[in-house]
Parts: sequence; structure tokens; C-alpha cells
Amino acid sequence: MKHRLFTACIGAMAATIAMAAESDARFASFPAYEGSDLELLVDSSGTHFTLWSPEAEAAQVLLYPTDRNSAAEDTLAMLRAESGTWRASVPSRLYGKFYTFRVKHAGRWLDETPGVWAKAVGTNGKRAAIIDFAGTNPDGWNEDRGPEVKNITDAVIYEMHHRDMSMHPTSGIVHKGKFLALTERGTRTPEGEATGIDHLKELGVTHVHILPSYDYNSVDEANLPSNGYNWGYDPQNYNAPEGSYSTNPADPAVRVREMKEMVKALHDAGIGVVMDVVYNHTAENDGSNFSLTAPGYYYRHNADGSYSDASGCGNETASERRQMADFIVNSVKYWAKEYHIDGFRFDLMAIHDTATMDRVASELKKINPSIFVYGEGWTAGASPLDAGRRALKENVAKMQGIAVFSDDIRDAVKGHYSNAADRGFATGKPGNEETVKIGIVGSTAHPQVDYSKGNNSKFAYASSPAQIINYVSCHDDLMLTDKLAASMPGSMPEQRMRAARLAQTIVFTSQGTPFMWSGEEIFRDKKGVHNSYKSPDSINAIDWSLKHANRGQFDYYRELIALRKAHPAFRMTDASEVARNIVFDKVAQPNLISYSIKNHANGDEWKEIKIVFNGSGEPVDVKVPRADWIVIAEDGRLKSDGLGTSRGGRLTVAPVSALILARTK
Ligand code: CA
Repeated sequence: MKHRLFTACIGAMAATIAMAAESDARFASFPAYEGSDLELLVDSSGTHFTLWSPEAEAAQVLLYPTDRNSAAEDTLAMLRAESGTWRASVPSRLYGKFYTFRVKHAGRWLDETPGVWAKAVGTNGKRAAIIDFAGTNPDGWNEDRGPEVKNITDAVIYEMHHRDMSMHPTSGIVHKGKFLALTERGTRTPEGEATGIDHLKELGVTHVHILPSYDYNSVDEANLPSNGYNWGYDPQNYNAPEGSYSTNPADPAVRVREMKEMVKALHDAGIGVVMDVVYNHTAENDGSNFSLTAPGYYYRHNADGSYSDASGCGNETASERRQMADFIVNSVKYWAKEYHIDGFRFDLMAIHDTATMDRVASELKKINPSIFVYGEGWTAGASPLDAGRRALKENVAKMQGIAVFSDDIRDAVKGHYSNAADRGFATGKPGNEETVKIGIVGSTAHPQVDYSKGNNSKFAYASSPAQIINYVSCHDDLMLTDKLAASMPGSMPEQRMRAARLAQTIVFTSQGTPFMWSGEEIFRDKKGVHNSYKSPDSINAIDWSLKHANRGQFDYYRELIALRKAHPAFRMTDASEVARNIVFDKVAQPNLISYSIKNHANGDEWKEIKIVFNGSGEPVDVKVPRADWIVIAEDGRLKSDGLGTSRGGRLTVAPVSALILARTK
């Protein structure tokens, strides 16, 4: 989520808690609770509730027979316990029951809450559920493993929304809009093209990045199937799956099991699952589960006691406080262990502090060294947290095992995100060459890259390409197809497809980790809607019939991905190797970049790869050393194992295209 500011925020801008600034110091003095049994533990001695609420004057557990529309059948008084907690127990296993907590604070009973650690919830996430998680595991779950990833740069990330992938009639998918959509094999368009999981396999991506899939606030789970669509950047229950993606939101075990089945099916297809996590703010302010358990503690505030708002959504969380940092760390660990999640994408990561992000990465690596973490290295508004402590893009080299999105390459290749008509390198606008080169070297220091000429960042902020996610399109802003349509008025679709191929060729051959938005490979669009967070399926759903119509575009993307995966030269992890092995050629024209990746970089079988990007509308002649070259890409075509051969010399690079040559000796 970026610069969406208030438009995408569903949460109430409720009256803020009148709270003095000195409360920040008070919160810092709260004891943290380090036990792993927070809120609910079921064991042989019974059912145990432990709520962290240091300032509560009293606390209760309410037990319910159903997820809604029923009165409490029991109310348990909780007793004050260690480290700010309250406890209550029942000497039996209450599987099948639902519960909420209620806290008395400042002389007043607050509204009921399922707590912050509800791992299973009923309809709309209002009541937590007591279920036996062993019963939610698909067959073979104990043996389930995601793909091994040595370095994040080996990943090819495909960002998607559950509904986008399956809702359109041409998907041929039965469980439309559900987790189960990605468990269906053999789905086809009417023209016979693979869709869903088979499509992902055919394309060759290594990981899907699923938009928020924890329980969010905006879609009414009691009214399905409505035309309810939301990206889900409005968190409600961080540790339970979203109900509208399940076939039965009222049965708490169903959403858990179905999400696991999705993960298992993707893993069986060799594809990892990255989850988009949004710990930086909650949908509600005073009414959030954080506020109803420990009022004020989990959020930052302005000097006047109002909620500070670096998220642009009405509040921001306070990762510098111990119990909040622990919450983030333990929550991602839970998803990694219980759901076998392979990676995490942190929304507005710069709202969090670098120390917490370091803990996130190191704790996840202990669970599974293949897990990787990346995020948006920016905020959507001012934050009281000191800039030096924020997990900003500019601070990425201070963190361990964290990557950030490169808005440098994004805007330089296709034009500025906030100005629809603006063009970039791939659409013929001069002046972006140096910033594209920043992208090519993964934002690391390079003797031939002048960062002072960068459009966005003015210094080499990455100490390794493994800290950089390269992209030209994501769920935010105009997707690439719409951006090209808006910035190339009067153009033919073929011209725009050609520009898209050039743009993505720059991304996928650059050092760093490539990332793409779902459906671009078949040139789908979103009808020019730049902020489709709650647009109907008619805007967001992928029309799979485009795969047949634009088969050439799909084949290009598939070959581009295959090229990257087959050649470690595109996937260096050491900045000094990048500086040594990448050599830029002097060129006279604007909108032209020519460089080589030399020295069998990163163990590549190819001694040298020559890459020329021509973003201009004119053919350009370049001189290439005489050698036995394999032609990998020319004139808008690309084949990972070669289109033909060349002896080098003076070669013409067609307008808006990449020339890629390779030689083994
Ligand atoms: Ca929900």
C-alpha cells in the first residue's frame, strides 16, 4: 500500500483517546509477557485463557455456543497474574465453543473482543473459536515443504489477489474467489489455455505473493456471495485467515483447513507462498482488538494524545514497544509454522523500526532458511518515530535479511506512478537512463553509476542486490498495461505490448529480485482504475480469454522467466561482484543503455552477456565485439536458449526492444 492515504481506509476515524504524551513513557514501562500461551491454550488439564492487559482493573472471558446470534452461556472472572496478564481456566477442553474477552479500563467496561491472538474465528471475526488444529491439516501436511531458496534473488515473485485469479467465467475454476481456487488442477479457458495453478506452473514463477489473507474487516462474511471485493489492507484478526476466502466463514476450522490446502497445492506444484502482512495499522482505532485489550499501548500518538497516522489509515502501530514487537515477530512465526508460509511482504514497513525487522528476519530463518522478507521501505505519512530507526528503503543496508521495493527502477522505466501521462525509459522519455542503471545494479555502489543523477534516491542504499525488489507494476497505482495506455495515447495494443516486454525485460535481467503483478503476462488491464482496492470483479478479475488472444506476450514472459532462472549471472548477491562483473558501454543517444555481464558472473556458463535496451522510437546501431554469440532477444522476441546466432560487429537494435546476446567463450 502506498500513498493511498485516506481513500483505501475502511477503518473509522473515531474520536481519539484523550491521552497525554507522557503515556508513551508509561507504556514503555509495562512488563512484557513472554509466554507462548497467550489468550488460549488447550491441554490435558483443560482450557486456559491468558490475556495481556497491564492496566485492566478487571477482565472476563465470555463463552458462547455459536459464532454469533447467541447469548453467553458462561462468564469467567479472570485473575490478575504475572507480567501484566490475567488468567482463567476451565478443567475441560472446550472444543467447539467460542469466546471473547472483556476488559474494565479507567472505570468502564470496554466492548468485547476476540483478543489479539485469536487463531480461529467465526463469521466476521467477532468471536474467537476453540478448535483442534490437528484436525485442520490436509493429508501429507507433515511432509509438506515449500521450495528451497538459497537466496531471495533466485525467487520470481507473482503478486495476486484470490478473487482476481479465479472470479472470471473464463477461469474454468470451480471455487471462485476462494483459497481452494489454487488447489484445482487442470483448469482451462474455453480456448484450452491453462488457468489458475497450472498457469502459474507454465509461467514458471517461483512464488505467489498473496494479498492480505488474514481476517480483514471490509467484506461482510455474513453476506456471501455478495460482490464484496477488497484488497484487505484493513486488518482485524492478524492470526486467522480471512473468512470470505473460505467456503464457510461460520465454521472456524474451514478457513484454516482450506488455506492450508491452498499452500499444500502450491507447494506440490513447486511454488512458494508469500503473505502480505499489514502490522502497521488496524482497520479500527478505539474499536480494534489492540485497543480493546490494552488501550493505547499498541499505537503511536501525537503530542496532543491523538493517534499519529503514518499509515494514512487513521493510526499506526508502535513496534518500538516490546509487546508490539513481540506480537509482530510471534505472528509471522506462527504463520510460518502453522501454515508453512515461505515469505512475508511488509506493508508500509518503514512504520516499523529496524530492530524489529531484524528480529523478524532472523527468527524466521531459524524456522526455515528459505523464508525471505521484503517490504515497502516508506510510510504514507509523517511518523513520530525517528527516521534513523525506521525500516526505510534508505536504511535497508542497516538491516539483516530484509529487502525493499525499488521505486527507482519502477518509475524510471515506465514513468512516474502519480502522473498517468508521464513516460519513462521504455516509453521513450529521455533523462531516466541513470536511474534505470541504478535498477540494473540493484541499487548497489557501482563505479559507472552516478547516483547524484538518480530520480529518487541519490545514493547507493543497498549493500547487496538481495536487498532489492525490482518491479514496474504491483496492485497499487495503474498496472503496467493501464499505465502504457494512459501514457501512449493513440498507440496500438501491439506497440504497448512491445513496451511492456521491454519494461519487464529490464526488470527481469536486473540484479535484485523480480516481482510482477498478476495478469500482466497476458496483457490484462484494470480499465484504467489506479486504486481498485474495492472495485468490483468487473475491474479486477483476470479475463483469461486474453491468454489465447495474447499468447505471444505470455510466451515472451515465460521465456524471460526461464532465462533468469537458468542464468545465475542475473542473480548476483555480492555488491562487489556486481561492480566488477557489470560493465556499461559508453553510448551517445538518450534512451539507450548498453552493458555486459562478464566473467562467468556468479558461476554462469556464459562468459559474457551483452544487453542493450533501446527505449527510443528509432532503430539504433551498436557495435558488439566479434565473437560467437547466441542471440537471446531481439526486436521484441526472446527465447531463453536462443533465437539464433550472431558474429557480432555492427548490429541494429530495433525501436522499443532489448537486444540480448550471450557467449560461452
Ligand atoms: Ca473478515
